[in-house]
Amino acid sequence: MIQSLLIANRGEIACRIIRTAQAMGIRTVAVYSDADANALHVQEADEAVHIGSSPARESYLVGEKIIAAAKATGAEAIHPGYGFLSENAEFAQAVIDAGLIWVGPAPASITAMGLKDAAKTLMAEAGVPVTPGYMGENQDPAFLAERAAEIGYPVLIKAVAGGGGKGMRKVDDAADFMDALASCQREASASFGNAHVLIEKYIQRPRHIEVQVFGDTHGNIVHLFERDCSLQRRHQKVIEEAPAPGMDEATRVQLCAVAVKAAKAVDYVGAGTIEFIADASEGLRADRIWFMEMNTRLQVEHPVTEEITGVDLVEWQLRVASGEALPLRQDALRINGWAMEARLYAENPATGFLPSIGPLDHLEFPEELRVDTGVEQGGEVSPFYDPMIAKLIAWGETRDEAIGLLRDGIDCTEVWPVKTNAGFLGRLLDLPEFGIGDVDTGLIAREVDALVTPPEPDEDELAEVAAALCASPDDGPFSAALGFRVNAPSRAEARITDDSGNSYVVSFDEVEADEPTADVLAFTDGFARRYVLEEPRGSGHSAVSDGAILSPMPGRIIAVEVAAGDIVTKGQKLVTLEAMKMEHSLTAPFDGVVAELNAEVGAQVQVEALLVRIEMVEV
Ligand code: ADP
Ligand code: ADP
Ligand code: MG
Repeated sequence: MIQSLLIANRGEIACRIIRTAQAMGIRTVAVYSDADANALHVQEADEAVHIGSSPARESYLVGEKIIAAAKATGAEAIHPGYGFLSENAEFAQAVIDAGLIWVGPAPASITAMGLKDAAKTLMAEAGVPVTPGYMGENQDPAFLAERAAEIGYPVLIKAVAGGGGKGMRKVDDAADFMDALASCQREASASFGNAHVLIEKYIQRPRHIEVQVFGDTHGNIVHLFERDCSLQRRHQKVIEEAPAPGMDEATRVQLCAVAVKAAKAVDYVGAGTIEFIADASEGLRADRIWFMEMNTRLQVEHPVTEEITGVDLVEWQLRVASGEALPLRQDALRINGWAMEARLYAENPATGFLPSIGPLDHLEFPEELRVDTGVEQGGEVSPFYDPMIAKLIAWGETRDEAIGLLRDGIDCTEVWPVKTNAGFLGRLLDLPEFGIGDVDTGLIAREVDALVTPPEPDEDELAEVAAALCASPDDGPFSAALGFRVNAPSRAEARITDDSGNSYVVSFDEVEADEPTADVLAFTDGFARRYVLEEPRGSGHSAVSDGAILSPMPGRIIAVEVAAGDIVTKGQKLVTLEAMKMEHSLTAPFDGVVAELNAEVGAQVQVEALLVRIEMVEV
């Protein structure tokens, strides 16, 4: 067995791997960038090595530094986690050439599955049904347009080197094909350094179903059943579950057999995932499920499989990398109950899901659930990496039970001042379609408006908040923000405002407290609000939110939609920022006037640069 392991990753997955390694008595070595000097994975590992500055391309993506860190600390093996270098065959080879153990498949298997076109061709040859489409060399636009017409619209243009939901364009009509192709190729070269695309039939009522596979160096390959990852936003998974709702046993047996066949075709060793796309217009049918791609690494959503099978997939990875045979044979693997995972992201659904960067001053996770995270209260979400804060994972005897537990867990999730998608996740779990397992990858987009709108605060919440904000000092004990003592109540009225600029006139029972509270945080169904007393009008700055629009991360301004002095309405687009290779629109938090504008098209801006300031106008 491996005695020491370097984890070439950060965040929740680094912590997840460290947990299992330590339980197995393996010494762990973390690596970290400047931004991560105080990160949780650094604290939890037995040892940690600084490998460079904050941008990933200067630290977590620099293979030589990582290998040097392993050598310097005497680590025997390297686990790449997911993302970063996990699917980089050259890095895997360099690890092996350095005399270290690579916790992953052979570099040749990574290469075989690395590009979507080559992988599909290989799978088709191995007798695996693949999504119908064109996956050849010829990239001439007119030729590709002909193929698209042959396949029949709608089609999906996909970067062969794409990943993480990027580099894809759905085209509904031949007239739009050329523009979509050009824009997809531009994004593909910018993000992946490879402009090659393939054209696929866009599957109707698509469901994303994937199968966990596992191989060892003794020629054994098993599957650990399927996961359903159909709840997606912009082709990125949001909620995942196992097993897949509506999957009958016969279909499961066929699908999992196909997955094992696919893994065998590349002599797969270690943990891998075969992703399929299903046409669910008439339920799940084996003849309407096609191979889409293989991810040759541990998957973000691997915990749901662990929860229904009782297998620790990281333990299996470390055993297999140490040369052991798979601990269980296929016939010893069973599905037990139902598991569901929600990805908690530092993003603001109310502003088009803009990433939300900053300190985690207040952070509470549900105690009843498995929570895989890489941050703690007092930590921060940095602009340099993926904004996932945690994965909340629930297990129940039945699907309904798992949904209920996850829903309760979301209600108990409290994060501030970083904004999260917790409220959005809760709404998603409440959707009647989701409740009956009637899911497809378009569900979120169809319902998005209802999913992102916070509920109106109820009167009781407002009364409690107002009472806490107006509490007058006394000598009694004062515990939590809302835990004040009611003492001969008398009725009062106050004007309070939340952080979105909504103001409320509230009548409440006066209370006494140690000291008045400057602000009160309230968490309702995952939606977070901060309330303050509204200062009398005309006293200068508004107390709540002074309407300062800060750049959420370093980036470049690509559009400015307003001029200084313009009257704007809540939600109106002000400035568009290009950052982390995505476009983010910044919108007005409330009705007002553009009091300050520091944004110019083409300008590079730092994180938290003041771009626009909106002032409320007197009416
Ligand atoms: P999964 O099915 O495990 O979510 P993805 O392909 O969506 O697989 O990516 C897993 C993780 O790897 C993402 O959450 C992200 O952190 C990282 N990742 C993958 N591809 C990219 C990419 N092209 N750019 C940035 N991050 C990526
Ligand atoms: P990535 O490498 O970015 O994960 P995938 O090929 O796995 O790329 O596709 C990502 C998502 O895009 C899928 O989970 C699915 O929701 C959607 N998708 C991909 N191919 C198709 C298709 N042919 N028809 C409909 N939806 C698709
Ligand atoms: Mg995928």
